[in-house]
Amino acid sequence: MFAEIMAIGDEITSGQRLDTNTQWLSQQLESLGIEVRFHTTVGDDLAANIQAIRIALGRAALVISTGGLGPTDDDLTRQALAEATGTELELHQPSLEHIQQRFTMRGRTMPPKNQIQAMFPVGSRVIHNPNGTAPGIDLDCAIEGHQSRFIALPGVPAEMKEMWLATVVPSLTGQGTAKKVIRHHVVKSFGVGESHMESLLPDLIKRGREPRVGITVHQATISLRITATGESAEECDAAIADTVKEIDAAVGHLVYGEGDEELQDVVVRQLLAQGKTLTTLESSTSGLLAFWLGSVDVQREAFLNGGIVPLAQLKTKEQVEQAAAAMRAAIGADFALALGTLTEADSSDEYCIALASVDGVQSISSGLAGHPEIWSPRMAKQGLDLLRKKLLEK
Ligand code: ATP
Ligand code: MG
Repeated sequence: MFAEIMAIGDEITSGQRLDTNTQWLSQQLESLGIEVRFHTTVGDDLAANIQAIRIALGRAALVISTGGLGPTDDDLTRQALAEATGTELELHQPSLEHIQQRFTMRGRTMPPKNQIQAMFPVGSRVIHNPNGTAPGIDLDCAIEGHQSRFIALPGVPAEMKEMWLATVVPSLTGQGTAKKVIRHHVVKSFGVGESHMESLLPDLIKRGREPRVGITVHQATISLRITATGESAEECDAAIADTVKEIDAAVGHLVYGEGDEELQDVVVRQLLAQGKTLTTLESSTSGLLAFWLGSVDVQREAFLNGGIVPLAQLKTKEQVEQAAAAMRAAIGADFALALGTLTEADSSDEYCIALASVDGVQSISSGLAGHPEIWSPRMAKQGLDLLRKKLLEK
């Protein structure tokens, strides 16, 4: 069985509001072991809603919608669901009383328009909304012989979430759909591009493999996302541990951490464990490396300080190397990292990273490739990775 999520509203299709409801519901369904195969977004148009609902009910066993349950003319979910399923709308007296009561509580009388919120397609179960006027709808449907269930929730995220957790989740568990457990684990790596990484892990990223391994890249950091499905958390965790071992065997030299760990977290931890200190000097990266290091919670004793100098001061490989050594001596740190973009006439698209330590200065120079937005983060990460490997030597 799989599910489809529908986000309804012009504010979503026009891009004025980000559809966070679908993201949240997708995570909820996944944690219940229900696969989500389609996300549909549709504006406040009756014909479009009817069409989208019919398509969803024709292919998914479970359809969850958010939005369009309000009392205004652009709120069409109720009517569209009735028309799409060939059902009449009927008044649900307890819901009408609940809505009237909410107005009375605030010393007002219910505008006639709000009565529409107590109308439901015949056969619906009403999903109580303790925080708003719009109740939700839970309807069993059959479109061209395909049995499915439609659940309509309001668009307001807080109302939607509470109704989902209080009423919908227990009803899904009762149906026995939530028998599987899904667990995730993320392995973080740095040092090669996405397609290179893929070529190093051919067996692991094969389609249909269990657990599943997916590759995502963000600012030159590659995340290997492992998803295991099983009958218990223990079973999933054992399968994840085996996959992590396989990843380590293939690309262990590129792996630096897990979960949401960044390179600076790992480097600061290594420095603290070894009682070592670091200072930095940057030109084109404008202090990005220092900002990252300074943002690590526990950095106090490990990261002494970071400097920024004009581009012109670090424009040759020799200058970058000398700057690292000079910075190390001046600050009295165990390590100094210097980063510069080389601006000599013949090497304007190169950069240099130098690491000074008690063993002298080592450096990497390379061409600036890819989108300019990635240059600074990649340089800062390469510096951190150089230091990480140096710290592993000891
Ligand atoms: P009501 O009118 O009773 O508040 P409704 O079901 O008609 O409920 P909408 O009018 O469509 O809901 O949306 C209400 C609020 O929820 C708006 O602020 C809207 O921006 C927000 N919202 C709607 N859909 C989403 C979504 N998919 N993700 C995040 N926010 C949403
Ligand atoms: Mg709306």
